[in-house]
Amino acid sequence: MDNLTNYHTHSLYCDGSASIEDFVKEAIRQGFSSYGVSSHSPIPFDTCWNMNRGDLPAYLDEVHFIKKKYEGRIEIYCGLEIDYLGAEYNPSSPFFQELPLDYRIGSVHFLKTEEGYVDIDTAPEQFKETVFRYFDGNIRKLVEKYFDTMMQMIDTGGFDFVGHADKVSMNASSFLPGITREHWYKSLIHEYFEFIAQKECMIEINTKAWRSKRLFFPNREHFGLIHKLHIPVVVNADTHHPSLVNDGRFDALKEMLSEGFTHVRQLSGGQWINVEIGSL
Ligand SMILES: [Zn+2]
Ligand SMILES: [Zn+2]
Repeated sequence: MDNLTNYHTHSLYCDGSASIEDFVKEAIRQGFSSYGVSSHSPIPFDTCWNMNRGDLPAYLDEVHFIKKKYEGRIEIYCGLEIDYLGAEYNPSSPFFQELPLDYRIGSVHFLKTEEGYVDIDTAPEQFKETVFRYFDGNIRKLVEKYFDTMMQMIDTGGFDFVGHADKVSMNASSFLPGITREHWYKSLIHEYFEFIAQKECMIEINTKAWRSKRLFFPNREHFGLIHKLHIPVVVNADTHHPSLVNDGRFDALKEMLSEGFTHVRQLSGGQWINVEIGSL
C-alpha cells in the first residue's frame, strides 16, 4: 500500500526520544513515501517539551540536511507544531510565517486563564487540579473554553492542518466519564466541525493514544460527521519514539473506510494531494 506517511512527529529538539535521523531511518525501513518533522514550536514561556527558540536555526538546518541526504529514498518535509496562544502568538504570526517551513500544524495545548496560560494536555491528576483551580470545578467551562480557543485558532489560520482536534476529550472523559455523550457536548462538537468545514480546513486523525487508550483525536464517533462534512483528513501518529512512526495508522484507515472515506491527504512533490486509501 502507498499510504505510509506521517507528518506529526517529534525528536530530541522537543520531547521526542531520538534524533530526527533515527526517526527517518525507521520510516525508510518501513517503506514510507514521505515523512514530516514537526517539533513543538518555541513559545514565550518555559515548558519541558517545547523547543528553545535558540535551537530553531539548527533544527531547520538539520531537517534540510536530512532532506538532501535521503533524497530519492523518501520525501522529507520540514514542519512545526505551533501553539495557538491568542491573537499575538499563533501559527499565523509573521515569525512563523516567515520561517522556511514546508507546513505548519496548529495545536492547542494551553488555555488562557486570569493567571496566564495553563497546560491542559497533562496527566489526569494535574488536569483535575486545573479544573478546580481555574474553572470553578466545572468541566463544562473548561471544555467550552477549549473548543472556543480551537475555533479562534481555526478562524485565524496560518496552518496546514489542525492538530488533535478534540484532544481535551481524553482528560475530560477521565474527569467525568461519559461526558462526550452528553447532549451539550455533542452539539458543541457538531458546531465545531461545521465551523471547520466552513473554513475549509484540513484536520488530522491523530493516532497517538490508539495503542494505550483506544482513542483517536478526533474520536472515532465523529468520523461519520467529518466525512459527511467533506473535511479533508491526514492520518498522523504524533510520534515521540522511532518504533511508533506507523502506530495506529492502519486501524485509523480501516475505521475511516468503514465510514465511507475513500481518500486521505498526503504530501507529494511539496503539495497536499488526495490519495486513495489502498488495500490494508
Ligand atoms: Zn500536540
Ligand atoms: Zn505532537
